[in-house]
This record gives sequence, structure tokens and C-alpha cells, in this order.
Amino acid sequence: MKIETACIHEGYTPKQGEPRQLPVYQSTTFKYDTSDYMGKLFDLEAEGYFYTRLQNPTNDAVAAKICAMEGGVAAMLTSSGQAANFYAIFNICEAGDHFIASSSIYGGTYNLFGVTMRKMGIECTFVDQTLPEEELAKYFKPNTKAVFGETITNPTCTIFDFEKFARLAHGHGVPLIVDNTFATPVNCRPFDFGVDIVTHSTTKYMDGLGVSVGGCIVDSGNFDWMAHAEKFPGLCTPDDSYHGITYAERFGKGAYITKATAQLMRDLGSIQAPQNAFYLNLGLETLAVRMERHCANALAVARFLKSQDKVAWVHYADLEGDEYHDLAKKYMPKGTCGVLAFAVKGGREKAIKFMDSLKFVSIVTHVADAKSCLLHPASHTHRQLTDEQLIEAGVAPDLIRLSVGIESADDIIADLKQALELI
Ligand SMILES: *Cc1c(COP(=O)(O)O)cnc(C)c1O
Repeated sequence: MKIETACIHEGYTPKQGEPRQLPVYQSTTFKYDTSDYMGKLFDLEAEGYFYTRLQNPTNDAVAAKICAMEGGVAAMLTSSGQAANFYAIFNICEAGDHFIASSSIYGGTYNLFGVTMRKMGIECTFVDQTLPEEELAKYFKPNTKAVFGETITNPTCTIFDFEKFARLAHGHGVPLIVDNTFATPVNCRPFDFGVDIVTHSTTKYMDGLGVSVGGCIVDSGNFDWMAHAEKFPGLCTPDDSYHGITYAERFGKGAYITKATAQLMRDLGSIQAPQNAFYLNLGLETLAVRMERHCANALAVARFLKSQDKVAWVHYADLEGDEYHDLAKKYMPKGTCGVLAFAVKGGREKAIKFMDSLKFVSIVTHVADAKSCLLHPASHTHRQLTDEQLIEAGVAPDLIRLSVGIESADDIIADLKQALELI
């Protein structure tokens, strides 16, 4: 199926007389006739649902849809994008391990990796993703277990070079994990470029209407854990907490997601509510149409901003002449997403006056849904930082992150124009 069809039909195929729409299985438990069968479920010897913390049919249908859209072999939903990124790393790293992440990533992920996971004894080295391969290779250590980046970085809107990082990761015997939230599989399929595992905050474009927080992890099944068994004992040696199962032997290409479900979800429990999975599925059904409109609108808005005297700069990789235009065209020929970054001349004060003068383009701590919105990290998410600290964190003090919605592009431009005229 092409992606436009997959968005609608993958994951759930009703049989004769069954509901046309995916049902919400609002049930914590599932009934079995014999104690023996139930025992087999616990041993992972039989397939079936037993408790929603581990698996639920609504969630599984939605995970299967996202899995098909990404071209993966197995997937799981999580309660949030934060939980997805945490599980994705924690599934293969334990205390004493190390991993490498691009420093240009979502602030929440930066904090999770740099502060919270450090407290758990897992060390993350943040790297400048624009460095040449030989420079980046110096950051690998014997205990390095993964490499992480974001397809399109939030909030700086730069593009991650998959092939460069896939060569580096695979050359050092570790998987490449990419957060594909902003591009979505409609615009980018990282597995086609050597990425091994993809994560999502489904809260953004996938849900698309700002109604439910959620996450997802998808495995390509391409990374050969057994070939690097000494690095990944959790997958390649028997799990005492699961009757001595060796995931990579028993489940092959499904090993990574099976372990994340059987171990991490069992013990940490960050499940997505089936009702939220239902909302997510509604969002997915229109994703392909919405992404096309988000991109067309964002390009029109980027061109408008670029032509304005009061605008200092615009970063949008689909814009001709943008520093990341070639990488964007290579990995996302249909377009990147609806998020762009720009600045008005005159610093924080003018930026605030501009934002406060907008009519329907609103100031919210969110991105990537139907309604146009914006955020000024220096005044909002990063307001505790000085200008110098902001620059160090890779966020220009004047940067405004604009998430272009699917309203009329003319109306969005008119709103931005009247606010620019007031500064
Ligand atoms: C929002 C976001 C997250 C975190 O997702 P939540 O669903 O809010 O937990 C992770 N990565 C990226 C790129 C995001 O934009």
C-alpha cells in the first residue's frame, strides 16, 4: 500500500459484520477458559491478551498501522513521546553504559538523556551533528550502545544526516535510533536510509488535533543483535525475570519490541490509554492529507517572511537556498513539515510585541497540529537562560518557532503581516 492508503487501512481489517471503525477495547483484562492456557501466555508461549498494561487490541492495531507506515517489523505504543525515547534507549542501555545523541534535539529529550538518565548511571555524550564523520567517530567508547538523533530538529529546524550517522553507528556495532516526530512517515521513512529504530511523539502531527499525548517505538528488524551479543546482554543472554528466555534467539526480528513490552512495559507501565490510541488512529487516517497542506502552507509562509524587511532570518529547509535544503530534498522530497524558525529584528522586546499582536496564530507550548501557533524559547521554554546560555544550547535568543497549521495560508500570512506592521 502507498502511504496515503496505509494511513487509513493498515492495522485493522474488520471481518464480516464487525465494526467498520477500530473499536476501543476498554478492558483491563481478557478471559481464558483454562489455567493451562493462561500459564502459556505468561511464558510467552501462546499468543493472546491478558492484561492491558502489556498489550491491548486497540493499541496493537494502531501500533501495527504506524509500523506498516514506517516499513518496520514490530512496534509498540507508549503513554508519551518522552516514554518512547526513554524506553528506546533503556531497552539496550543499563547503568555503566554510554550512548551518543545529537545536541540538536527536543529540550525534553535533552533533559531526559543529560540529567535523568545520568542519575540512573547511563551516560550520554551530546555531539554537534554537523561535524565530519572522523570527528564524530572520536566520541565512541567501548561501552557505547546506541546513537540518537531527530529527523528534523526541534526548535532549530535543521536536518539530520541519516546515512552519515548510520555508517558511524554500524561501524561501531550499535544501532541508530531516530525520533521521526516532525517528518512523520508520510514525509520521511528513516529505515530506507539505514536507521534501525524510530520513535515518535504521536502527540504532534500523528494525532494532529492536539487532543491526546502519546508515543510510539518502531523497530526495522535490521539490526543484528546476536552479531554484537557482548554489547547487548539484555537481548542476547537469558532473561531470568522471564523464565530464561533469550529474546534475540526466541523472537528474531521481533526481539527488541518483545523485550521492551515484556520487561519495560511490565515493570514501568507507561501504556497509552486505549481511548487515546483510538483518537490517535483518527488522526492517522487524515495524516497524509494534512502533511501535504502543512508543508504547502509553511513554504508559503516561509517565502513571505523571507521577503519582509523586519524579519532578520528564516530557517525552513524546504526554502530554496536554506543551508539544509539539499539534505531535506534527499531525505524528504515531498517536503519536511509545517514547523519553521525565524526572527524579527530588534531582539526579545520586538519579538514579544510581535507575538502579542497576533490575532489567531496563538502562543502555546505545542507544535505540529492543525492550528497555527508559535513560541519564543527565550521568553518561554528556555526563559531561565541568559542570551549566552541560549547560544550555547544552540537556540538563538531571537528564535521564534512557528508551527504553521492547516488554515488558509492567506489568513496566516495576513495575521503575521499585521503583527509585523505594529513593530
Ligand atoms: C514533543 C516531542 C517529544 C516529547 O513528546 P511528548 O509526547 O510530549 O512526551 C519528543 N520528541 C519530539 C521531537 C517532540 O517534538
